Amino acid sequence: MKRFFEPLAAFEPGWVWLVGAGPGDPGLLSLYGAHAIQQADVIVYDALVTEDILGFAGPGVELRYAGKRGGKPSPSQRDISETLVELAREDKRVLRLKGGDPFVFGRGGEEALALVEAGVPFRVVPGITAGIGGLAYAGIAATHRDINHAIAFVTGHDASGAVPDTVDWAALSKGSPVLVVYMAMKHWPTIRERLIAAGRPAGEPVAFVCEATTAGQQVLETTLAASLEDLAESAIKPPAIVVVGGSVRLRAGLDWLGAMAGRTLTADPLAGVKR
Ligand code: SAH
Repeated sequence: MKRFFEPLAAFEPGWVWLVGAGPGDPGLLSLYGAHAIQQADVIVYDALVTEDILGFAGPGVELRYAGKRGGKPSPSQRDISETLVELAREDKRVLRLKGGDPFVFGRGGEEALALVEAGVPFRVVPGITAGIGGLAYAGIAATHRDINHAIAFVTGHDASGAVPDTVDWAALSKGSPVLVVYMAMKHWPTIRERLIAAGRPAGEPVAFVCEATTAGQQVLETTLAASLEDLAESAIKPPAIVVVGGSVRLRAGLDWLGAMAGRTLTADPLAGVKR
């Protein structure tokens, strides 16, 4: 029998590994992710990396926090990149651990380019992004032949914190039957308005999935029309992703986590819906 870590590349000193930790559940770490956590000399991690996952780090590992928390000023992107370069030049095995996937709304690309500029060797280990893992744990299939042949991952705010003008909401509304919006909580009222203005029906299903794949996961099913009120009455808080589209209806059949807590699933969650 082969051992799990046997075929993996070695984590060499002086290297930076840019690793996606997945959305939260430690079971969703990749083998490379688990391997790196146990081999690293130093782990530079973000706010979205859970305690559950950091708990796998060995006793000799230095843990450095590089995220935003409680309104305290966060290290700038430049500071983080410089830290990675410095640590690698000290000949450490540097693990840059990020929530989800490092290249999905995670600035992994910027950090990797800073390493290229500094001549520091690096490896990128993809992770399960919240928009994939969170949907699966909420019982929503990302694609389903009867619902969507496209899905779009969108960010709800840009570097300045505003709703991004670079996102063409009207084109997205027309082009993608299912939208998965990251970082959408703060600007949901504006985003919702733009979607409705672009022709998405007010009755369209919407799901908010917060703290996806962790013990604190909560899902709110609502519609574009009712979402503001329902959200205000709910305990949903960031980090959350918002799913807009007919695939939210699949939860009635696919909410396997809910089933473990007693929910009865139907094998035909799209019954009565015009296909
Ligand atoms: N690189 C990450 C995304 C970072 S942006 C990834 O691939 O998942 C941060 C946003 O990701 C949050 O605002 C939220 O929209 C989403 N997110 C990350 N982890 C999440 C989780 N466990 N549950 C719900 N949303 C999550």
